[in-house]
Amino acid sequence: MPEGHTIHALADRLERAFRGQPLEASSPQGRFAADAERLDGQILERAEAWGKHLFVGVAGTTLHVHLGLIGQFPVRPLDGGLPPAPIGAVRLRLVGQGHWADLRGPMICTLVDAERQREIVATLGPDPLRRASSPDAGWERLHRSRRSVAELLMDQSVVAGVGNVYRCEVLHRLAIDPLTPGRELSALLWREIWDDLVLLMPLGRAFSQIITMPDQVEEAGRAKRSGRARAVTRRLTGERLGDTFDRRFLVYKRTGEPCPRCLKPLQEKEIAGRRLYWCPACQVRR
Ligand SMILES: [Zn+2]
Repeated sequence: MPEGHTIHALADRLERAFRGQPLEASSPQGRFAADAERLDGQILERAEAWGKHLFVGVAGTTLHVHLGLIGQFPVRPLDGGLPPAPIGAVRLRLVGQGHWADLRGPMICTLVDAERQREIVATLGPDPLRRASSPDAGWERLHRSRRSVAELLMDQSVVAGVGNVYRCEVLHRLAIDPLTPGRELSALLWREIWDDLVLLMPLGRAFSQIITMPDQVEEAGRAKRSGRARAVTRRLTGERLGDTFDRRFLVYKRTGEPCPRCLKPLQEKEIAGRRLYWCPACQVRR
């Protein structure tokens, strides 16, 4: 499932491609035909993400999309021509002056009004990629819970946008015991988790790949601060993961390999339907 950085990158991409332009909207598959008609000819005013939810505002209505497990919404340049004939089940096609985008396989694709959008956002915890988000609302939910930190970090009402990779990697980066019940986690460690997400997720958003290895975080951070990352970001269509950096992780899918910190074998365990990867030997802080 795409994590929040992917949806924020998608919102950025939609704004760069279509903002201020009238959209040609259609539903080649037919399942969204009546709603696509309402979007057709409207000007795209803004696109924004909250966690894994995408909201695209046009005059009078908002398109709400959640990609779920298999959804895709790449935005590609037209290169002066027309978009190709749709292939397969395209729920929604948007065509602008210089770009086109096909939405396939979303879990949610619907039009909402401002009130419904507020209701959806109210179910979500703070989003580390939104400047105005504060970790306090997440703490309120987390520190009353008996559930483990590993499970709570995947709960979108505690923190919005975090998926399995960020959860496993951040807990290892901070040497936190993932099995600590939320109500036993210190407020200081919650703050460290939040700050690390605020550091890491913008790098994921810029490069369309999850970057957590200390050397890569350093390099990606430098590229972002110097503005060099922008050229990479603009080239990405969302069709596939970024490949600026080697795909390496500290613990994710590394069961049995030596822990990068203490060299003891990494382990995995299923928690709330998702596989947690961690080092029981050195992840002991709570
Ligand atoms: Zn270790």
